[in-house]
Amino acid sequence: MNPDLYSIRLRAERSGRHLCGAERIAPEADLPALAATLVARAMTHAGGSAEAAHCTIEKLMGPVARCRLPAVTTWEVADAATGRAAACRLLLAAGVCAAAAESTLARLAEGPAPGGLVMRGAMLVDAASGARLEADPARGVRVSRMDLAPESREQVLAELAAAGLNHHRVAEALVLAGKVLQAPGVIAELCWSDDPEYLSGYVADPRQGYQRITRLKDAGDAKGGRAIFVDTRSWDRSACVTFLERQPLLFDRPGQIRQRQTWQG
Ligand code: AMP
Repeated sequence: MNPDLYSIRLRAERSGRHLCGAERIAPEADLPALAATLVARAMTHAGGSAEAAHCTIEKLMGPVARCRLPAVTTWEVADAATGRAAACRLLLAAGVCAAAAESTLARLAEGPAPGGLVMRGAMLVDAASGARLEADPARGVRVSRMDLAPESREQVLAELAAAGLNHHRVAEALVLAGKVLQAPGVIAELCWSDDPEYLSGYVADPRQGYQRITRLKDAGDAKGGRAIFVDTRSWDRSACVTFLERQPLLFDRPGQIRQRQTWQG
């Protein structure tokens, strides 16, 4: 019989601002070590060590669905400007209108929270107009309660590493994107990190999967964020946000991993 599973989440602050967050799902026996790992990450963050950290542990009731991670494509780009142009093209191909893609790229570049700050969660963006739909523009929507399945975690990480995808951020972002792409009404996601040293990011959509772009910003740039694009024509906001924030989901196998390609523009 599978052991009971728990959601463990950590969010850390510094100077009264969001510093970082982390999400895992694990059996009870793994929780103490995992809590220590997450706390260590918050205390050694590139943005400075956390001044406050909040850890939440919650037992998940009932069985948790397992599914496959999205397919991965890596686009090699020469610089951040080419990366952003590539991201724009991939968003258009996913069905996002040009105005929405361009305005959202500009918002991530400026800092999408009020005052040009980084958000704690993701923007929700109307793919047909670019309008922002999240209730709180500083918090956004926090995608939560997802992870690699504990019983296949090592195997999946080994398969990703064998394909050159061995940065822990890639696995975490793949899991997050995998959940986002299953939310009702979502047609695409755009992300680049606020970590000044982590320069790659991605566009994800249900048809193409996770399209990694090797450079979406320059070193030293501490702006970044996430945008989830929705088709509002038959969109149920509450169903979408509840799925993203509350529905537990585990990934137990990798998707197709495609050959690395150079973006030709
Ligand atoms: P990261 O990739 O962890 O550097 O995060 C980049 C940005 O994505 C953060 O600044 C947040 O705005 C957003 N973000 C991080 N974690 C989540 C999450 N679990 N759900 C939604 N947005 C997130």
